[in-house]
Amino acid sequence: MLGVVWTISRTIRGLMGGPRQRPARGPSGPSQRAANVPQGRTVRDPVCGMFVSTEVSHRLVQGNKVLHFCSQECLDAYERKTAKV
Ligand SMILES: [Zn+2]
Repeated sequence: MLGVVWTISRTIRGLMGGPRQRPARGPSGPSQRAANVPQGRTVRDPVCGMFVSTEVSHRLVQGNKVLHFCSQECLDAYERKTAKV
């Protein structure tokens, strides 16, 4: 009898104390429908120098700074470059 109670309490503790899953929230706010005018800013890709819209860019967060890249390739290249130092 005691063993059953112990098992149940352990099961409950496992359910309560387990890692809680939180839905991952991106930095983007509520999505707005842009008609034809592109929203957001245009920033320079530090790798290839191309200008990209922050709406469609590949983002890399470094500390409190957000870098924007035209493609995943540029993002990877930048990461590889900075990882060396
Ligand atoms: Zn680029």
